[in-house]
Amino acid sequence: MHAAFPRGRVRATLPVLRARPTPSFEETKRRQAWTLTESDIRSCVIVGAGPAGLAAAYELSKLSIPAVVFERDSLVGGIAQTGNFRGYRFDIGGHRFFTKVDFVHDTWVEILGEDFLIRPRMSRIYYEGKYFDYPLKPLNALRGLGLRESVRIGLSYLRARAFPEPEERNFEQWITNRFGRRLFQIFFESYTEKVWGIPC
Ligand SMILES: Cc1cc2nc3c(=O)[nH]c(=O)nc-3n(C[C@H](O)[C@H](O)[C@H](O)COP(=O)(O)OP(=O)(O)OC[C@H]3O[C@@H](n4cnc5c(N)ncnc54)[C@H](O)[C@@H]3O)c2cc1C
Repeated sequence: MHAAFPRGRVRATLPVLRARPTPSFEETKRRQAWTLTESDIRSCVIVGAGPAGLAAAYELSKLSIPAVVFERDSLVGGIAQTGNFRGYRFDIGGHRFFTKVDFVHDTWVEILGEDFLIRPRMSRIYYEGKYFDYPLKPLNALRGLGLRESVRIGLSYLRARAFPEPEERNFEQWITNRFGRRLFQIFFESYTEKVWGIPC
C-alpha cells in the first residue's frame, strides 16, 4: 500500500484495525496515516462491500477520492449483512456493535445518528439441556456443568497453563492455551464449526 500512496500533501487515515495486539488509538493513527498528494490518487478500487470495504470507501469519500466497490453478492454488508426473507429482515448471525476504539465508535455515531440504538443484550448457548452465558463466564459455566465436569475443565486448564502449545497457529491452539482443551472441546469447537461451517 505504501508504494501505491507516495508522500505528498493530503493526509489520509484508513481505519484498518488489527486484531492482536490492540494498538492504542494514537498508535493506530500513527501507523495508518499516509501522506498523499491529490494527484496521487484519482480513484480507488475496493473489493468487497463488507464492513471493511464500505468503511474504506466512506473514509476515502471524505477525502474526495472516488472509490468503486465491487461486491460479488447481491447484497452489501458481507457476513454482517441483513437479508430479507418473506418480508422479514435477518442478519446472518445476530449482530451487535461493540468496540474499544473511539475512532470506530465515533464513525458509527456519525453515520447512524439517531438510528444508533442502545439495546440490552443476552446471548446464551444451549448445551446439554442448559443455558450458558455467552461470552462464557467461568462461574456460570462451572455451575451449569456440575462438579465432575468442572474438575475436568479445571485440570485441563492447569495442564494447558503448565504445558502450553508452543505455537499458536490456529483457533484450537489459541483457545486451548487460554481455556484448556476440555473447554475447547465442549463449547468452542462445536459452536465455531456451526457458525462458520468449517472444521476447526
Ligand atoms: C454469526 C456472526 C455473528 C457476528 N456478530 C458480530 C457482532 O455482534 N459484532 C461484530 O462487530 N461483529 C460480529 N461478527 C463479525 C463481523 O460480521 C465481521 O467481522 C465483519 O463482517 C467482517 O467484515 P469484512 O468487511 O472484513 O469481511 P466480510 O463481512 O466477510 O465482507 C467481505 C465481502 O467481500 C466480498 N468478496 C469477497 N471476495 C470477493 C471478490 N473476489 N469479489 C467481490 N466481492 C468479494 C464478500 O462477498 C463479502 O461481501 C459476526 C459474524 C458472524 C458470522
